Amino acid sequence: MATNEDNLKKIIAHSKEYGFVFQSSEIYDGLSAVYDYGQLGSELKKNIKEYWWKAMVQMHENIVGLDAAIFMHPETWKASGHIDAFNDPLIDNKDSKKRYRADVLIEEYIEKIRLKIQKDVDKGIQRFGADFDETQFRATNPNVLRNQAKIDEIHLRFKVAMDEEDMPAIKVLIEELGIACPLSGSKNWTDVKQFNLMFSTEIGSVADAASTIYLRPETAQGIFVNYLNVQKTGRMKIPFGIAQIGKAFRNEIVARQFIFRMREFEQMEMQFFVRPGEEMKWYEYWKKERIKWHQSLGIAVENYRFHDHIKLAHYANAACDIEFNFPMGFKELEGIHSRTDFDLKQHEKHSGKKLQYFDPELNESYVPFVVETSVGLDRTFLSILSAAYQEEKLEGDSERTVLKIPGFLAPVKIAIMPLTRKDGLPEKAREILDVLKFDYNCQYDEKDSPGKRYRRQDAIGTPYCIMVDHQTLEDNSVTIRDRDSMEQERVNVSQLETIFRDKFDIRKRLK
Ligand code: ATP
Repeated sequence: MATNEDNLKKIIAHSKEYGFVFQSSEIYDGLSAVYDYGQLGSELKKNIKEYWWKAMVQMHENIVGLDAAIFMHPETWKASGHIDAFNDPLIDNKDSKKRYRADVLIEEYIEKIRLKIQKDVDKGIQRFGADFDETQFRATNPNVLRNQAKIDEIHLRFKVAMDEEDMPAIKVLIEELGIACPLSGSKNWTDVKQFNLMFSTEIGSVADAASTIYLRPETAQGIFVNYLNVQKTGRMKIPFGIAQIGKAFRNEIVARQFIFRMREFEQMEMQFFVRPGEEMKWYEYWKKERIKWHQSLGIAVENYRFHDHIKLAHYANAACDIEFNFPMGFKELEGIHSRTDFDLKQHEKHSGKKLQYFDPELNESYVPFVVETSVGLDRTFLSILSAAYQEEKLEGDSERTVLKIPGFLAPVKIAIMPLTRKDGLPEKAREILDVLKFDYNCQYDEKDSPGKRYRRQDAIGTPYCIMVDHQTLEDNSVTIRDRDSMEQERVNVSQLETIFRDKFDIRKRLK
């Protein structure tokens, strides 16, 4: 049976072979944790962005967009806390020379205990079926209770150590838990060190300390510093949101999981400004909205779950992740954070400018609280690709590799093929292409047998293929072949636009 790691390897190889994702500067042997999106990858990425933007901005009267610069005044990062606190705890294994995030090693250890609990629960379900009371089982079974107590204790020790920035205590925890290097099995660890993840560079031609600037590690701060500009010029009334899609940069310590953890990546963020005291209501609201958005993509719902944060970031009073079942297991896809008034207050302090909102209903001014939704574009891409990638056995001995990408996101929507390269079939096929290309990214393909052409389209996730044959010349009908069912339906060319409008309609998803 293929392991998860094998699956990830296959997805990486497939992405490269068909032009989804290439390693950056590959001819120079690549640059670690930096990737380029190829001819199909860039289409898929663009479609995801568009869908997010539609769902967040176009569908909400009180959310508007922004496109802020990557470079920002360096004081921004002092105010936001990134210069002082945007660190990850780093640990090296002395034998394998591999570097890890200490918090990730501990989280993975906890996940193993969690899996043990789940195994016990699954056994119960198997034995007692519908009569099984999972809540009661979790609250009374001695094995489960013991394992849960272990998890709670590790969480607590880890949280205290992180809050107090006590790096030696983290090392002690790793040693006491007997955590070994996943690659070598060695427990020979260095001390734990804090490592700042921001990239810096210099602006202007005079190299002195004052000209150091940073590549933004998150897009959020561009929204905060523009909050009053947008509120005033857009006449926005609280509650309202500002959405942005853009690049972010982090000098990640461990970057070995393809586009899951990159040093240059893209975020789709929305900061929602609310009345102080109402943030929990909106936090719950956005948790529901965002999981709904992910589930609207059409990937099986059991691939998503919430995970509450143990260690809250310095700015948050509540935070959770939406996790996805990646080939490497459940990992963070999106963060939803109640950021309080921390950022705006800090920017007031550091800039000396008031960032208050006058609330006409309350007749008072205040600094709004903020609820943030922040999803990685590249991780969304990987979630879609990993759920889509399938190797199927077909009748007889043949098999196919198919990307079952949700149709509305597919890079190529329709492939148009003449059965043969003669008898006027190519001309007819191009006629159809010339109509559909206004609305859809289409591909014309006339080379090789129809079977081979279908396989090629399956491999890049094209949901529909139109075949133009001799009957087309007689009655103006073509076949539409469905990628997932592989079934073919004969329809009249005059119906094609209506048929595809319905097939690619995103209304149902956005409702
Ligand atoms: P992690 O714990 O995995 O490092 P994070 O909690 O630091 O992530 P956030 O700061 O909440 O991440 O960023 C919001 C989103 O941006 C994440 O949910 C993720 O989808 C994306 N993201 C963060 N770091 C990276 C990265 N290095 N590569 C790709 N996407 C990233």
